[in-house]
Amino acid sequence: MDFDLTEEQRMIRDTAYKFAVNEMAPVAQECDREEKYSRAVLEKACEAGLVGPVIPEQYGGAGLGWVEQAIITEQFARIDLGLCLCVTASVFGSEHILFFGTDEQKKKYLPPLVSGEAISAGAFTEPDAGTDVASTRTRAVKDGTDYVINGNKMFITNGTICDYMCVLCVTDTETEIRHKRHSIIVVEADRPGITANKIKGKMGIRASDTAEIAFEDVRVPQENLIGKEGRGFYQLMEFFDATRTMVAAQGVGLAQGALDKTLKYVQERKTFGRPLASNQGIQFQLAEMATKIELARTLTYKAAWLVDQGRTNPALNAMAKYFAGEMAVWVCDKALQMHGGYGYIDEYDVQRFYRDAKILEIYEGAKEAEKMTIARRLF
Ligand SMILES: Cc1cc2nc3c(=O)[nH]c(=O)nc-3n(C[C@H](O)[C@H](O)[C@H](O)COP(=O)(O)OP(=O)(O)OC[C@H]3O[C@@H](n4cnc5c(N)ncnc54)[C@H](O)[C@@H]3O)c2cc1C
Repeated sequence: MDFDLTEEQRMIRDTAYKFAVNEMAPVAQECDREEKYSRAVLEKACEAGLVGPVIPEQYGGAGLGWVEQAIITEQFARIDLGLCLCVTASVFGSEHILFFGTDEQKKKYLPPLVSGEAISAGAFTEPDAGTDVASTRTRAVKDGTDYVINGNKMFITNGTICDYMCVLCVTDTETEIRHKRHSIIVVEADRPGITANKIKGKMGIRASDTAEIAFEDVRVPQENLIGKEGRGFYQLMEFFDATRTMVAAQGVGLAQGALDKTLKYVQERKTFGRPLASNQGIQFQLAEMATKIELARTLTYKAAWLVDQGRTNPALNAMAKYFAGEMAVWVCDKALQMHGGYGYIDEYDVQRFYRDAKILEIYEGAKEAEKMTIARRLF
């Protein structure tokens, strides 16, 4: 359905959808089956100007907003969430540099992302610190003009393929204020002491690279600090306020894709001598799916638009992400059910959508974490 988009935004939407149909759909099944990241799709997306739209023009980007990023994300996820992440998450983590970095850091780290010469990552989660991210243990200790980093990160998107990552580290163990212990430091992936191991056997988004990373006496110049020392936790929360709207857009796109496929299927498939679509029981379910997708879309674009207006509403962003994720899981369940046995085999895309959807309730803050943010606002 058509959200009230400008002419330029409609053009971006159509370009992104065509790109996804032409470049992502043909390789989606293969990348899923073989757990294969596609650098080729990323490079083509860069050529098409679809990467890093929020990066300002002076750093190589298009200087657009989070609404435009949501539009692109939605259209990609409508075809395949794993490949959507290969492209849209190729800049993940770099938002720390965009929001809090110096001009010098922006000039150094942002342009190569837009051209596809580099891939970034955001390394926050640890084996024992996910939802409670403030319990991070990775330490960065000052030594001369460097930080020396030791610790482990878990579930890091682009972990084995990134060129640099923005890492959440503890830089102050003395302060009694728990949330003032952290800093974000940009770490180039080829620094000695870093080991990244790909996590295989994911349930979904298998085209996306996920890794565990160990840091052993990794030396990084102190100039790699992003923003202010001791502000890392607060920076991370602001970062999520923008990026969570993108997870919401992923949910909207993925659910729309599952509905697209189901609409086609129920008109083709016949039972009892007539198309499945002619049953009111089926029509009512399709109507409910479309309604929930539209609700999530409205929430998502409102949240992203407020970010663009400089009026970020953390509770609304949390609502958008939690609702869109849960909605996508629900829609995919209905979609698969209407495909019957065919929905259960990997020749049909709907099972991939079903598997991919679940991550939307887990990453960038599980839905329970979103509800904590919403509840805090209520009280
Ligand atoms: C494929 C994938 C990609 C990812 N990419 C990245 C990445 O690029 N960078 C990164 O840093 N992280 C990444 N993550 C990590 C992700 O953000 C975390 O998995 C997520 O934040 C949840 O943390 P956890 O797994 O440690 O779960 P836990 O924190 O152990 O929580 C387990 C469950 O309990 C719930 N829970 C926790 N505390 C409470 C509470 N107080 N009340 C009620 N319920 C609660 C949680 O919501 C969750 O459902 C990724 C994860 C996956 C699977």
